[in-house]
Amino acid sequence: MSNFQDIFNQYHWDTVKEKIYSYTASDVQEVLLKEEINLEDFQVLISPAAKPFIESMAQRSRALTRKRFGNTIQMYVPMYLSNECQNICTYCGFSLTNKIPRKTLSDEEILKEVAYIKQLGYDHILLVTGEANSTVGVAYLKNAIKLIRNHFSNISIEVQPLNQEEYENLIDEGLYAVLVYQETYNRATYKTHHPKGKKSNFDYRLDTPDRLGKAGIHKIGLGALFGLDDWRVDSFYTALHLKYLQQTYWKTKYSISFPRLRPHEGEVQPKVEMTDADLVQLICAYRLLDEDVELSMSTRESETFRNNVINLGITSMSAESKTNPGGYAVDQKSLEQFEISDERGTNKIKAMIQSQGYEVVWKDWDTSYSKK
Ligand code: SF4
Repeated sequence: MSNFQDIFNQYHWDTVKEKIYSYTASDVQEVLLKEEINLEDFQVLISPAAKPFIESMAQRSRALTRKRFGNTIQMYVPMYLSNECQNICTYCGFSLTNKIPRKTLSDEEILKEVAYIKQLGYDHILLVTGEANSTVGVAYLKNAIKLIRNHFSNISIEVQPLNQEEYENLIDEGLYAVLVYQETYNRATYKTHHPKGKKSNFDYRLDTPDRLGKAGIHKIGLGALFGLDDWRVDSFYTALHLKYLQQTYWKTKYSISFPRLRPHEGEVQPKVEMTDADLVQLICAYRLLDEDVELSMSTRESETFRNNVINLGITSMSAESKTNPGGYAVDQKSLEQFEISDERGTNKIKAMIQSQGYEVVWKDWDTSYSKK
């Protein structure tokens, strides 16, 4: 059986980049006349030449999203379980060499956080940890899922990449989705930003969605961290990855996230800036490429930006996020992974979404649906 590496190796970063920057306005006009957008068309839509066409892309993106998802925005919330990490990632507050107090939640603390999050109304939760196998390995994750599975109908994780069997074990416990961002598809840039720890293995990370697909996960979340390298090229590779996975593991659902570098302990400046207009262009391009993919927007983005992108193609949003372990109810002062930008409470976000004519969805899946 093939894997994404075989496709990835057929492309060269600099050639892709050159192509994206060579498109003209007439190429964009031609693509916008098409009913079906393919990967080459996607390159055209994320090119600088497509900037003047954002409004017409946005109209089409809005219509496609409403047709497929209705007037709904799904809400989720992250719960950080630990900030311990054996990796060095230059852009992250939890990086090994950052001298910060480390914390991993106990069972009792997890349940305290759960109680707080539940009273806010959430039914979809995203568990987040760093990569520290001795403290937050598979056994810890398995225990955490068991502890909380009766409280949430949908449990996702954003943790270190695991092997296929480990994913299968967690799926058996009630795991629904895994978010695993490649950060950047540029090997050299990846090496610069991940100099030490298991995460420095580019290929193992690149193969992770394949292992997830083989394990039979319900949903996989993809993305790149914008700012590490050229967002246009990274987005093309993410789209390439998405299309390969959809064809190979067609029973699985997919989502895309759009994290831009945020301030944290141990600053890294973006190599290539991604403006708000660039991000809007990208959201619309993904929707035009794929009607079914979920597009997710976190609280990394500002209030104004999040208010404005609701009706452009986004289908899920987090709110009131804390990016520190125990940040909701246990230890509000422990160090954050990164600073969030939109600090509004859940009720305010809910009101903002409703004021734009959208319905807030707290639950669109229950793990019991998949029980044999
Ligand atoms: S990004 Fe993840 S793996 Fe890297 S230092 Fe932060 S928590 Fe650890």
